[in-house]
Amino acid sequence: SGAKVVVVGGGYGGATAAKYVRLFSDHGVQVTLVEPNAAFVSCPISNLVIQGSKTLADITTPYDNLAKRHGVKIVRDRVASIDPDKRTVKLAGGAELPYDRLILSPGIDFMWDSLPGMAKPGAQDKVLHAWKAGAQTVALRQQLEAMPDGGVYALSIPQAPYRCPPGPYERACMVANYFKKAKPRSKVVIFDANDDIQSKKGLFMKAWKEHYDGMIDYRPKHKVVDVDAATNTLKFEFNDDFKAAVANVVPNMRAGEIAVKTGLATANGRWCEVDFLTFESKAHKNLHVLGDAIQIAPGMPKSGHMANQHGKTCAAAVVSLLAGKAPPSLPIYANTCYSFVTDEDVVHVASVHRYDADKKTMLPVPGAGGVSVAASELEGRYAHAWARNIWADSLA
Ligand code: FAD
Repeated sequence: SGAKVVVVGGGYGGATAAKYVRLFSDHGVQVTLVEPNAAFVSCPISNLVIQGSKTLADITTPYDNLAKRHGVKIVRDRVASIDPDKRTVKLAGGAELPYDRLILSPGIDFMWDSLPGMAKPGAQDKVLHAWKAGAQTVALRQQLEAMPDGGVYALSIPQAPYRCPPGPYERACMVANYFKKAKPRSKVVIFDANDDIQSKKGLFMKAWKEHYDGMIDYRPKHKVVDVDAATNTLKFEFNDDFKAAVANVVPNMRAGEIAVKTGLATANGRWCEVDFLTFESKAHKNLHVLGDAIQIAPGMPKSGHMANQHGKTCAAAVVSLLAGKAPPSLPIYANTCYSFVTDEDVVHVASVHRYDADKKTMLPVPGAGGVSVAASELEGRYAHAWARNIWADSLA
C-alpha cells in the first residue's frame, strides 16, 4: 500500500511493532523507527550487571537487523512533538515525518516533582535509579564496588504500578549476592512504598532467608518523599530519615514524557488508555500506544514480555486497518517474568491474558499461569534462554 507507519521508541514494544508491521504487511508498509539510543539495552538481565556476572555488552543488541533484514528505516533522533491532527512528528533534530499511523512505545519517565531534593545540581548523577538500563546500570555497579565492607545499600521502591513488579526484589537479591561474596558485613535495606511485596512474595522471602539471612531487611509502607543526595539520605512520609552508603531510589513513574505532553496520559495524567484490540489511543485516532506507557488491564504487569506481545497485537491491527479491514478480534497473550534469586537459581511468574468482548479489556485466563514451586538452576537456564529468544524476536 505504501502506507507510512512511524514508530517512536526502539524498546521492547516499539522494536517488536516495527519488525512485525513489516512482516505482517509483506514489506508493503513503510516503517520508520525513531530512537535516540545507538543500540537496544535490555532491562531484563540488567540486575546481573549490577551483581557482576554480566556486562553491559551482554545485554546490548544493535538495531542493524531491523534495517538489514526487515527494511525498517532507523532514524537516530528523539521525537520532540507530535501533531495528531496533521499526522506528523517533529524530531529534535528539526526534521518532520508524516504518518498514516503512529505507534508510540516510549516506556516510562520518572515523576521527579515528588522528590524535590533530586532537582539539585548533580543529585541525579549521585543517587541513581538504574531503572532504565544503560549508563546508570554500570554506574550503580561502580558505586557498590567502591562501597566499603559494612556499608548499607538502600533501595526504595515506588508506588505501584511501576515497571517490572518483581524487579526490585530481584535487585535486592543480586546486590546481597554480590555482598555475600565480596563484602559480607554489608547490608541491603529495602524501603517499599507499597503495603507488601508486589510479586512472588513467598519465593522471595524464602530466598532471602535461605541465602541472605540477616543481610536483607525489608520494610513495607515506607514512602520516600524526599532525598538529600549530598548525604545519601532518604526522607519518609512517616518514618525517621535513613542515611545509606549507596542510595538507589526508584521514583514514581508515568508514561514517557512524549506521551504525556501529547495529551495521551488520560488515566490520572500518568498512563495512556487504549483500545485493547488495536492499542489505538482513546485520546487520538491513528495513534497507537503500547508497552509500559499504557494504563494496564487487570493482572497485566508492566513487562518487556507484555510490551513484546502488545507490539505484535498492535502490528497486526495496524496492518489490517491500513488495508481497510477489521483488526483480528480475539488477542491472547502470555507473560513470563523470571527473577534471579542467586546467580544461578531463578523463580518465575507466568500468566495468560485473553480479550473479553463484554468488558472490552484483557483479562487473565483463570487456571493458566502461576509461580514456581521452588527456585532452581533449571529455571536459571530458562531465564537466559527467554532473554536470548525475546531479543531475537524483537530485534533480529
Ligand atoms: P522501553 O523498553 O523502555 O523502550 C522505550 C524506548 O523509547 C527507549 O529506547 C527510549 O529511548 C525511547 N524513547 C522514549 N522517548 C522517546 C522519544 N521522545 N523519541 C524517540 N524515542 C523515545 N520485563 C520482563 O518481561 N522480564 C524481566 O525479567 C524484566 N526485568 C526487568 C528488570 C529491571 C531491573 C527493569 C528496570 C525492568 C525489567 N523488565 C522486565 C521490564 C521491561 O524492561 C519493560 O517492561 C520494557 O522495557 C517495556 O518496554 P517499552 O517498549 O514500553 O519501553
